[in-house]
Formats: sequence, C-alpha cells, structure tokens
Amino acid sequence: MKVFVCTSCGRAVFPHRLLCPDCGSSEWREERVEHGVLEAAVEREVRVGAVRTPLGPLAITRIESDAEPGAEVSLDQDGDTPLAR
Ligand SMILES: [Zn+2]
Repeated sequence: MKVFVCTSCGRAVFPHRLLCPDCGSSEWREERVEHGVLEAAVEREVRVGAVRTPLGPLAITRIESDAEPGAEVSLDQDGDTPLAR
C-alpha cells in the first residue's frame, strides 16, 4: 500500500491529507510500504485492523488472514482499500 510523505518535512500520513499537519505544505510524494505491525483487529462482516506502518501512520485495513495483534503483516492495496495479510 502507499502512504503519503511530505516533501518539505518528511511527515508521513495515511490517508492522504490536503495539508501537512506539521508544516502546512501541500506537496506530497507517495511511498510504498510492504509490511507493518497489526495493533488491533475486529471482526465485522470482514476483519478490519489497525496496522502501524514503518513510516509512522496507523492504517485502517481489511485483514485477509488470521493474524493476531502483535503480528507482522504484509500490506497490499485493492484500489483505494489497504489490505493486510
Ligand atoms: Zn510537512
């Protein structure tokens, strides 16, 4: 999946924001993250989790595995929807 990194100060965010919360810049580059750490998971119609990415942002993702909180998961993207496996 992709996170957005401020080209001015390096702050990473997910999802995308218009302005950087740290410096107010509106210039972003996309950076791919391949894995993260599952911090929480809930069972709804689908499994949904919060994954801490290496660049900092916590991403809400769909989970397509039986990973439990604390586990490292791989990250992918289905359109705009982040997926963890
Ligand atoms: Zn910034």
